[in-house]
Amino acid sequence: MACIPAARSQDRIHCPRSRSSSFGMAERTIGTYERRSLAVVTRGLQPDGGRLTDRLQRPLRDLRISVTDRCNFRCVYCMPKEVFGRDYQFLEREKLLSFEEIARLTRLFASLGVEKIRLTGGEPLLRRQLERLIAMLACIPGLDLTLTTNGSLLPEKAQALKEAGLRRVTVSLDSLDDKVFRAMNDVDFAVERVLAGIDAAARVGLTPIKINVVVKRGVNEHSILPMARYFRGTGHILRFIEYMDVGHSNGWRLNDVVPATVILSTIRAEMPIEPVGPNYRGEVAGRWRYCDGSGEIGVIASVTQPFCRDCSRARLSADGRLFTCLFAMTGRDLRSMLRGGASDVDIWDAIAGVWRGRSDRYSEIRSAATVRLPKVEMSYIGG
Ligand code: SAM
Ligand code: SF4
Ligand code: SF4
Repeated sequence: MACIPAARSQDRIHCPRSRSSSFGMAERTIGTYERRSLAVVTRGLQPDGGRLTDRLQRPLRDLRISVTDRCNFRCVYCMPKEVFGRDYQFLEREKLLSFEEIARLTRLFASLGVEKIRLTGGEPLLRRQLERLIAMLACIPGLDLTLTTNGSLLPEKAQALKEAGLRRVTVSLDSLDDKVFRAMNDVDFAVERVLAGIDAAARVGLTPIKINVVVKRGVNEHSILPMARYFRGTGHILRFIEYMDVGHSNGWRLNDVVPATVILSTIRAEMPIEPVGPNYRGEVAGRWRYCDGSGEIGVIASVTQPFCRDCSRARLSADGRLFTCLFAMTGRDLRSMLRGGASDVDIWDAIAGVWRGRSDRYSEIRSAATVRLPKVEMSYIGG
């Protein structure tokens, strides 16, 4: 059967950026042409019409979409130069999902309950005309649309991203110490250029801005306090991330992890903080606020306090594979379905089937043995 052209299945969506719709969830995003097949489509939902859940009763709520596996940085904990060197085979252009393909899949994911989309990579701002994709996704009702970036291209891109309908950004910055940061990104990129990116994002209203800091023992734990001092009172939310054993090329050792408890006590020693409840079930970062009201910080303790129990995240790689865990080894190939003429209903069913069969809880069962498993790289699967 011929597939539904993306534009047709979007016909009834009120754009731009409408968040209201009188249609039901599935009907809203499945095109007119396939409404008669809705009985098939709703097989993906629970018998009581409730949310699609996996084998551990976790709903599908978030989708991270990697738009490229390439990056202009070589962060030592993510894309070490020794592995991602001159000879490294990145995905060829024709293997990447087109913007139309990504938008079509996103609409289907939204109809399955996804409420939040994060564009990532690799470095997502390296993908040409990303704002065109953002404009397409911003037309899908009810989606919270955000992006994670290393900030290097934000000064020239922030305005266009905002105008296209992006709501917020998360910027990664591991230290304010220029020497430390240049060594961590390993391409000699200066701190002040990322700070300029953060300022540009703030100026155009891509707020609240989150700042991701991966903490690696012996490398940047001395940056924790200066970062907290610098961003306190700015409205930006610093998020400290425990160094993870993603992929198989960063040479991860448990000893390199600075536990969340240590990160928090380092900050608490100078700036009193208190815990804040999560914004929603399954929120990745534990939230804390300064007792004097000068802002908030987050800590992502995926190694020492795993949160698989509430994990509602799926990941779509740049070549269209669906992964149900950051530490997965294989993903379901949706690109072949898209390019092989599968209908929306077929793809919808495939996604629902993958999610219903999901039982991932890698961080909860992490051990010396799991660390050695051949996992896909974070720059490919999307952080
Ligand atoms: N290039 C973009 C960036 O750096 O923000 C987006 C992709 S990056 C893979 C997404 C996030 O994953 C970044 O905040 C990065 O710091 C984080 N990350 C990468 N490798 C990590 C690791 N081994 N442990 C913890 N976080 C990691
Ligand atoms: Fe690139 Fe982001 Fe990975 Fe750093 S963390 S190498 S910026 S993808
Ligand atoms: Fe989710 Fe997998 Fe991370 Fe657990 S290890 S929180 S299941 S992505």
